[in-house]
Amino acid sequence: MHYHVLTLFPEMITGGLGTSIIGRAMEQGIIELTATNIRDYSTNKHMKVDDYPYGGGAGMVMQAEPVYGAYCDVVKKIGYKPRVIYLTPQGKVFNQSMVEELAKEKDLVFLCGHYEGIDERVLEEIVTDYVSIGDYVLTGGELPSMVMIDAISRFVPGVLSNEESAQFESFQDNLLEYPQYSRPAEWMGKRVPEVLLSGHHANIEKWRREQSIQRTLERRPELLENAVLSKKEKNYLEKLKKEKYSHEC
Ligand code: SAM
Repeated sequence: MHYHVLTLFPEMITGGLGTSIIGRAMEQGIIELTATNIRDYSTNKHMKVDDYPYGGGAGMVMQAEPVYGAYCDVVKKIGYKPRVIYLTPQGKVFNQSMVEELAKEKDLVFLCGHYEGIDERVLEEIVTDYVSIGDYVLTGGELPSMVMIDAISRFVPGVLSNEESAQFESFQDNLLEYPQYSRPAEWMGKRVPEVLLSGHHANIEKWRREQSIQRTLERRPELLENAVLSKKEKNYLEKLKKEKYSHEC
């Protein structure tokens, strides 16, 4: 996977992604990251990349031409038109199924806006996906692109070691993950659930699934509409719901 980030602040991207698991994957050549400074493509003698919005209003708008120049350079280098993700609060909200789908691409371009955003005409020309990381407004697209790259990279084969690649994680089967415990078996008078110390794998598996269902019902009940559950698990969920509602009234 090769990520191409078009930004006015390339050092933010390389600094933010160069450590830990993603940094190691880059060192091993499993993923590549190129952060391109859009300013290098300015046609203005002062290297300006923004201007006032037509029609008036607050703030500045990033101009079309430098963004287009930076994009065309990526296309020239890789020899085809890749998916271009524009990070914007107006996009589809990023989620785990998008992560898994995007991880299949060979190249991904992330276009980071700043100020009031980017001239609409270049977005129409090059953007294939409009993606938001949540319903709030940030100062730029750099943090959202790093969030996306981190999440996508976990699904690129070889990025996670065996110990790191969890068998079950939140959002798999539309459930949240069960609670996790480590040594010591007792801390501040709280004991780790006995089943986890039993060594009985089938019982541990059953307990974890039930905890996942319970936790999802408590914290993100809307996910359960599309959860992948066996018949027994559906019955368990119904039982939990009945208990929950009987306590509420
Ligand atoms: N004026 C724009 C609007 O109201 O839609 C917001 C511009 S924002 C201040 C500057 C840049 O930050 C955007 O162009 C976008 O790249 C990025 N950005 C801000 N919030 C974001 C979010 N929730 N998700 C993804 N990108 C975001």
